[in-house]
Amino acid sequence: MRHVAVIGSGPAGYYTAEACQKLFGEAVRVDIVDRLPVPYGLIRTGVAPDHQSIKAVARRYEATALSENVRFVGNVTVGTDVTIPELLALYDAVVLATGAPADRPLSVPGDDLPGVIGSAAFVGWYNGHPDFAALTPPLHGPAVVVGAGNVALDVARILAKTGQEFAGSDIVGHALDHLGRGAHERVTILARRGPHEIAMTPKELGELAHLVRAAPEVDPADLPPHAADAALEPGLRKSVAHLRAFAAATADKPIRLAFDFYAMPITIEGDGRVERVVVERTALDAAGQAHRTGETYTIPAGLVVSCIGYRTPPIEGVPYDATLGRFANVEGRIAPGLYAVGWARRGPTGTIGTNRPDGFLLADHIAADTRGDSGREGRPGLDRLLALRGVDVVTFRDWRRIEEAEVAAARAGAPREKFTSIDAMLAARG
Ligand code: NAP
Repeated sequence: MRHVAVIGSGPAGYYTAEACQKLFGEAVRVDIVDRLPVPYGLIRTGVAPDHQSIKAVARRYEATALSENVRFVGNVTVGTDVTIPELLALYDAVVLATGAPADRPLSVPGDDLPGVIGSAAFVGWYNGHPDFAALTPPLHGPAVVVGAGNVALDVARILAKTGQEFAGSDIVGHALDHLGRGAHERVTILARRGPHEIAMTPKELGELAHLVRAAPEVDPADLPPHAADAALEPGLRKSVAHLRAFAAATADKPIRLAFDFYAMPITIEGDGRVERVVVERTALDAAGQAHRTGETYTIPAGLVVSCIGYRTPPIEGVPYDATLGRFANVEGRIAPGLYAVGWARRGPTGTIGTNRPDGFLLADHIAADTRGDSGREGRPGLDRLLALRGVDVVTFRDWRRIEEAEVAAARAGAPREKFTSIDAMLAARG
């Protein structure tokens, strides 16, 4: 028997459990530990609430969760309730699938002014993450979204949608109500490089053309010569085709989603809260990297959301690569018995599905590194430790009661109304 502890119940965690199940069959026990009482990590609190088809992948994880040899151990914080050395003594493999929930810092003067928000907080707020339930993003003045990736698109779209456009989504009530109280007439998306360097994928970018009260805006002068698109990889070429269509469109809608290319924020200013962003024009060098040109201008802003990527927070005693913002590892191996998978292994890139091969690769490593005869105790040992410490463990059966209560509380047409505090989640177990 191999005993595996997976820390984190998001996509990387569940794909690792599924891979272990496929590889070892009945000869494995996987405990998926999460600090929240609810599973699915990024699927629940990262994927945009109006992208329900992506969130539907949770059903697949549920199939894994319901099998006998996989167990959800919720409301347990590694580092506080149980330590990594304790887990290593109990399990043959301890897999860190903790994702990358912390924002990469913008690191410009003024980035700590009220009204400047990182995407982890902003996305967590509209998705009901308990850590960010109290956020109240300012809705006055223009908004500035920094970054040219899919998270910037999510944020700009959520800021621009009408209440009716959230029908069928699971955006939490507090965010829907708050967004209904006002809107930014202009949302500027600051991209430090050009249209050929965006990280936005075509399906997500194309959605901007179909918003009820908002229209994307691209300055044709920013677009490279059309012929240059031929050299792009197909996905990026499609994205650039959307930008060309935005530049040619003349939709007259009250909210403008303005792309500002070759534009890097250098200072955020305001008296007690954000009021403007000082931006510097960039030019690309031969390697395609952005360089400052010395030409600056100012954009008024009542809200700045920085969407420039994420980092994995370090865990005491676990080797960490501070430059890359993730655990130091070689193909997922950190130290004997200790592994990383998904964003905690390779950084915040790729789609949800990219984590599947990651999980399967890791299961292969566990097979190669362990023999299943170590005599480690696994589950009963963890249960004993947690009981001794009075930890209120949430099981998958508990989660299903919480889920039932969320479904029962849904507004008309919505799949669920999420609980946004840990106390409310725990109370909903009945
Ligand atoms: P991302 O794709 O890495 O994009 C980050 C953006 O921030 C890039 O445009 C980057 O520009 C820019 N940036 C980085 N540092 C900056 C700085 N100091 N100043 C200004 N700009 C800066 O990250 P993400 O948008 O957070 O997305 C993370 C992952 O989740 C991606 O793989 C994404 O595709 C995925 N995701 C997918 C979906 C979906 O499929 N619907 C939705 C959300 C997220 P440079 O290129 O110049 O570095």
